[in-house]
Amino acid sequence: MGIQRPKGTQDIIPGSVEKWHYLEEQIHAICSEYGYKEIRTPIFEATELFQRGVGETTDIVNKEMYTFLDKGERSITLRPEGTASVCRAYSENKLYALQQPVKMYYLGPMFRYENTQAGRFRQFHQFGAEVLGGEDPMVDAEIICLIWELLRRLGLKGLEVQINSVGCPKCRAEHRTRLQEFLHEKKAGLCADCQNRFSKNPMRILDCKNKTCQTLTENAPTTLDTLCEDCSTHFEKVKSYLEIADIRYRINPKMVRGLDYYQKTAFEISAEGIGAQSAICGGGRYDGLVAEIGGPPTPGIGFAMGLERILSVMEKQNIQIDTDPVSPIILAALGDHARKEAFKLMSDFRQAGLPVIMDLLGRGLKNQLKYADREHARYVLIIGDDELAKKVAVVRDMRLGDQQEIAIENIKTFLIENNKISGKEL
Ligand code: ATP
Ligand code: MG
Repeated sequence: MGIQRPKGTQDIIPGSVEKWHYLEEQIHAICSEYGYKEIRTPIFEATELFQRGVGETTDIVNKEMYTFLDKGERSITLRPEGTASVCRAYSENKLYALQQPVKMYYLGPMFRYENTQAGRFRQFHQFGAEVLGGEDPMVDAEIICLIWELLRRLGLKGLEVQINSVGCPKCRAEHRTRLQEFLHEKKAGLCADCQNRFSKNPMRILDCKNKTCQTLTENAPTTLDTLCEDCSTHFEKVKSYLEIADIRYRINPKMVRGLDYYQKTAFEISAEGIGAQSAICGGGRYDGLVAEIGGPPTPGIGFAMGLERILSVMEKQNIQIDTDPVSPIILAALGDHARKEAFKLMSDFRQAGLPVIMDLLGRGLKNQLKYADREHARYVLIIGDDELAKKVAVVRDMRLGDQQEIAIENIKTFLIENNKISGKEL
């Protein structure tokens, strides 16, 4: 074996890339309909951005970042998520001076040094959206509606929306005290991560995946128990908008999500059929984040969705993707002169936007026809010395199985007028 790709990465090769195109087209379409504009930020950023913007107590920052010093001794990190970068770009490009809220989305690779297993990669892809400069609960609901509608269009079944409110720094202080009191005696039984969280970010203990921690926190006070009036009203309104939009949800008071900066609304969407890695999407409100990374105080909310997970759910649920392959025109030329003429025709056809390919290996006629078959060609144009002398080509209709001679100068018009290539308008 030669050199292999790094652990936790994947090649997306022809044959599967078409599924990605389909998914990406659906995403671009729905975002444009909902008024979200695409933003593209760098694949790497200053490490400090994620330390401050994702949070020092998160798994991402503690264990999962691809961090290195560049030749100028700057600490650089391959982006593990998109929100911090979008918030940085919002301040750096002064998007707060535009009409608010600013609704943006992104799509692209993220990098996390994870223990690889089914559905968990070191390079994976996320689609995410962020709304900055809008604190109305309607924004929270809209963003959940967008995800719901996308997943509905993709045909996913068995979806569950879980929501929670983790409160704001004000009401969380009380929760923190109550939770620490509750866990005081139990602390020794918590996992190493949670012992660490106990003083730094105790709320995170509530959604630890460790079984012992889950048992110990069974009757622990949740953030819903201590919501202040503002947070409580906000949560009620989010729920009522979801009801208006006919979105079923489940309140999960223990879902607090991984990121340090969440405030108020937190949500997660899962689908049946992918077992343990059932979360396909998670998000929440992060009203303190833009200020945390040095911008003006700005409310924000967003989510991120794992595209590999979406595709794997679609596969497990047997959802067919119509990839609509192009049926090309194949130019089968025999002999040097004919190949030159065909090459000229090809560039002429291509200028007219016709999908046309030519054998590049100098195959014989029989093999060129086989090639055409495998490429699902609609028409094959055969040009040999005889045809060249008569200034014609044999045009074989692969679907109907018949063929006719057509003057070379008329072929382009014939193809355009027949308007049959791949069944689409040209
Ligand atoms: P988990 O608890 O599963 O680790 P997370 O909280 O780290 O999830 P987020 O950071 O919220 O996940 O990312 C949002 C989505 O991105 C996840 O729901 C999942 O679909 C996808 N995702 C996250 N990490 C990976 C990964 N390593 N490989 C593939 N997809 C991933
Ligand atoms: Mg994770």
